Amino acid sequence: MEDLRSYIEKKGYREIRKSVDVEFEIAGILEKRKDTILFSNIKGYEKFRVIGNLFNSREELCAAIGTSKEEYLSHVSKALENPIEPRIVSKGECQEKTSSLYELPVLKHFEKDAGRYITGGIVIARDSEYGRNMSIHRLLLHSDNMLGIRIVPRHLYEYFKRAERKGKDLDVAIVIGVHPAILFAASYSTSIDFDELSLAGALLGKAVEVVRCKSVDIEVPRNAEIVIEGRIIANERRKEGPFCDVTKTYDVVREEPVIEVKKVYHRKNAIYHALLPSSIEHRLLMGMPREVEIYRKMRKVANVKNVVLSNGGFNWLHGVISIERDGKTNIRKIIEHAFEAHRSMKHVVIVDSDVDVFNINEVEKAIATRFQAHRDLYIYKEQHGSSLDPSSDKQGLTTKLGIDATKKGDKSKYDQARIP
Ligand code: MN
Repeated sequence: MEDLRSYIEKKGYREIRKSVDVEFEIAGILEKRKDTILFSNIKGYEKFRVIGNLFNSREELCAAIGTSKEEYLSHVSKALENPIEPRIVSKGECQEKTSSLYELPVLKHFEKDAGRYITGGIVIARDSEYGRNMSIHRLLLHSDNMLGIRIVPRHLYEYFKRAERKGKDLDVAIVIGVHPAILFAASYSTSIDFDELSLAGALLGKAVEVVRCKSVDIEVPRNAEIVIEGRIIANERRKEGPFCDVTKTYDVVREEPVIEVKKVYHRKNAIYHALLPSSIEHRLLMGMPREVEIYRKMRKVANVKNVVLSNGGFNWLHGVISIERDGKTNIRKIIEHAFEAHRSMKHVVIVDSDVDVFNINEVEKAIATRFQAHRDLYIYKEQHGSSLDPSSDKQGLTTKLGIDATKKGDKSKYDQARIP
């Protein structure tokens, strides 16, 4: 079965053999060098290796999940419609060795971060009604058996709330170091009862093989590099943050839940995946799954051709949507649906299907020649937006803006001249 190791062997990587420090040094190298880097000599953490920058562009992420950027939306949509359930096996490499939390090479990334953060950790949990959930959360190293976890109000939040209402802790397994298809699936959020591991199976073209954890009733990919078993403790909160997030500004300090760690298992010579916050790897993992969700929701109201959350908007705040216009097209409705489909989106540009949404210059040209502000601008004040936008007000309220940059009137006026 494909895993992190087979992925990096196939893709290629650069190895850094000199001794490097988990505090700032590895993060600094990952930020500067835009290629996949394996650090094989970690000062004070000789049992582990560290990998970062698993993919460094939209093209590389698409290749990792078996598609191209042009086919991406339909490829993932098809996978979602044809999920492949994981298959339980009795033995897994991920349980070959044990260590303690303090033996893991957890990085400190940015100057004002609250501490050392696990950023590539996939949290797997189970609910008796909803089934399995897989999602990525930042994890602050509080002590040798305690992690802080930031849980935004999505699926895991609901799982934990349900356990907490009964006065119960929520068992979790945290998986670090897997094939990018599993990482991508864990970043995908659709309906709450959808099992993200079955999306990973569909993207890989075969069932993900999983093994049962030792101390919690949860299964994990058998060839994961590292597995942390523990539980999110009911009715306990601790300060979490500041933390440099996707916009490269600091997220605020909040009271967040804590995880009591019971066991740490790993492979021989395990590779710890360090996901650098605000890197293209981080931004694409946040934004690209959301593009598919926007696409799937918008297709119900418009003939949508493509959706992109652009690099300049941190792959999160800015959307470009191309559509095929017909007589019934209602742009206001499309814009409002887009904001509904992705609540963190602040600015959205609607273009015709002849505009290449991957090329921001082409999008700007459409705004320059197909848009009139008095007619085609839609402004929505005091909307709930992203807490990661430092210009939003204290309550997280923001102004949203939609631009209709589609052709209007006599279409022939827009024809581009040709040299015969
Ligand atoms: Mn989910």
